[in-house]
Amino acid sequence: MATFEGGCACGAVRYRLTSEPMIVHCCHCADCQRQTGGAFAVNALIETDRIELLGEAPAAISMPTDSGRPHDIHRCASCQTAVWSDYGRRPQLRFVRATTLDDPQALAPDVHIFTRSKLPWVTLPPEVPAFEVYYDMAKVWRPESLQRREAILGGG
Ligand SMILES: [Zn+2]
Ligand SMILES: [Zn+2]
Repeated sequence: MATFEGGCACGAVRYRLTSEPMIVHCCHCADCQRQTGGAFAVNALIETDRIELLGEAPAAISMPTDSGRPHDIHRCASCQTAVWSDYGRRPQLRFVRATTLDDPQALAPDVHIFTRSKLPWVTLPPEVPAFEVYYDMAKVWRPESLQRREAILGGG
């Protein structure tokens, strides 16, 4: 089984993913751009219990959102690097910032989302599905990943 280790910039927060994620999003939404200062965020969706903490635990910071749906970013208390997010206060599910892995190219995006706000100088690979906003999970997720999601969240 593959393992993926990562952490924050100062090294206080260290973690290991104990399996592949369910799916990897490359999110081009305006929130991700502002919050990261980059062109997009690469989020690996994985069960919280498949993240093994090897150092300090990050601290959750609540972000303002347009939708009103809660979004907490978990950051190193010392250097403030964001290592993962909790969208919708679902403690079983984490959106790990995949480029905080020691090997930042270990997890490539399975899908590009919110391309309506993609920066014009970012060119997407034609072979990876891309959506203006979001997508139908039943069509995009691997069946095995859908089962994993259902195991932690139920059908919803
Ligand atoms: Zn740190
Ligand atoms: Zn986003």
